[in-house]
Amino acid sequence: MTQIIILGATGSVGETAYRVIQAQPDRIAVDGLVAHRQAEKLWEMGQRLHANWIGLTDREQAAELRHQHQGQSGPRIISGMDDILEAIAISPATKVIGAMSGFSGLMPTLTALENGKDILLANKETLVAAGDLVQRVALQRGRKILPVDSEHSAIFQCLALNQPFKRILLTCSGGPFRGRTKEELKTVTVEDALRHPNWSMGAKITIDSATLMNKGLEIIEAHHLFGVPYEQVEVLIHPQSIVHSLVEFVDGATMAQLGWPDMAVPVQVALSWPERWPLAGPALDLTQQPLTFDKPDTDTFEALDLARQAGIAGGLMPTVLNAANEVAVGLFLSRSIRFLSIVEIIKDVLGAFTDNTSVVALEQILEADRWARRQAEDMA
Ligand code: NDP
Ligand code: MG
Repeated sequence: MTQIIILGATGSVGETAYRVIQAQPDRIAVDGLVAHRQAEKLWEMGQRLHANWIGLTDREQAAELRHQHQGQSGPRIISGMDDILEAIAISPATKVIGAMSGFSGLMPTLTALENGKDILLANKETLVAAGDLVQRVALQRGRKILPVDSEHSAIFQCLALNQPFKRILLTCSGGPFRGRTKEELKTVTVEDALRHPNWSMGAKITIDSATLMNKGLEIIEAHHLFGVPYEQVEVLIHPQSIVHSLVEFVDGATMAQLGWPDMAVPVQVALSWPERWPLAGPALDLTQQPLTFDKPDTDTFEALDLARQAGIAGGLMPTVLNAANEVAVGLFLSRSIRFLSIVEIIKDVLGAFTDNTSVVALEQILEADRWARRQAEDMA
């Protein structure tokens, strides 16, 4: 029986993980579940999965939940990030699903790796903001980082034999605004941007999918996960989201992994690897629609090259990119700025960052993240 922890259990990926785990009661037991503030939902999930503890980073919600369920049997309630990190450190779990959103995933991910646990990572922002550091810790502790992001799961599966390859081709749906001009994007609303054609996901990543920053972040994620230089990572628009990514090997043979757009497969692949377990779901029917591929429009969707350039610059540049993006997306979601301002803010913050360094320690990452957040807020 494998013991696990889910970070971000109440989110979109977290809920998928919950469903996958519920179907595998003989293989997986849950030690802990972590969320930010959805207290009742987390409590219920904890009850159903017989978790030993649940943790809420929001202390007020944790206190309220304790009050509500005083005297009842159920998981122990842990309050605040510091105590959650302690619970992760001493947990008997050997695997941690990283499905928190944004930079908040960094400290729990590092804590899990430092304490001998493998990370099953959906939370790409952690790798974007601190990829070198996270990889270094994983290497030092002999721990694995298994991708849960669907494209990276596809690449991971194609690279199972560790064979030499020429290129990674990351597929990208193009988001809700594929084919639009910049002029047309000036007036799009939050509702328009939240209408993703294929995937149902949390709000932040859905906006990232509309700007194509999601794919930009995934280029950096691929660089870290597979140790691949940026010039060997390409993006291919594939509106049907059936081909989850491809690898072209040195002999020209190209492999892909296909499936319906459903995070249950990448979550379970990461959990079962190198085994495969049965998973209920509709069979893939390739006669349903044509599969088409196209080049991305990098002039309209500038985020793609912005992220690639930040990745190439390295050091703290991707940390700054990530923080500026998180703030700008938040401002757009709260209707404080327009859609196209997201990328403008990121550009301005990156342009103002003149203290880059190639040697990156945790404190520098935290400082660069704080700096970029302040800058982005000031520029809005
Ligand atoms: P959601 O917004 O649906 O869920 C986010 C989860 O993280 C929730 O459990 C939330 O808790 C928790 N959380 C949010 N902020 C904090 C914080 N400050 N501290 C601690 N926990 C926090 O996001 P998704 O599930 O869509 O995405 C999660 C991650 O996975 C992201 O990094 C995303 O890029 C990545 N990903 C998602 C995919 C998807 O299909 N959704 C696909 C590939 C990658 P609460 O509910 O209590 O607020
Ligand atoms: Mg993805």
